[in-house]
Amino acid sequence: MFCGIVAGEVPAFRVVDEADGVAFLDTRPVFKGHVLVVPRTHLVTLADLPPEALPGYFRLVQRLAVAVEIGLGAGGTFVAMNNKVSQSVPHLHTHVVPRTKGDGLRGFFWPRTRYADDAEARSYAERVAAALTGP
Ligand SMILES: [Zn+2]
Repeated sequence: MFCGIVAGEVPAFRVVDEADGVAFLDTRPVFKGHVLVVPRTHLVTLADLPPEALPGYFRLVQRLAVAVEIGLGAGGTFVAMNNKVSQSVPHLHTHVVPRTKGDGLRGFFWPRTRYADDAEARSYAERVAAALTGP
């Protein structure tokens, strides 16, 4: 599924598409603007990511964390990765979730919401992309 998004065969609201990975909106966000960052190569868990790919991949995750906060005017972010347990899609992905003080997110209970429509989802992807700084 995520390989399909990387290849452009599966539609997604993309934020950025680079050599080190692709970032796009989670279709069932914890909060709107929740981004998933995936490596282009099919890898299942963090353990599968070659050491030489770590700097590029996590630099992209870091840039998205800044862009989600700035682009969406969030108070901060929650950055997380499930490996095997609770990993809904078997392709390595890091969650970057916008956080606001008092948003109700506690511990590891992840309520999910939905975008009103494609236009709203696109606007979130565009706002994060616009705030993305260079490599
Ligand atoms: Zn894959």
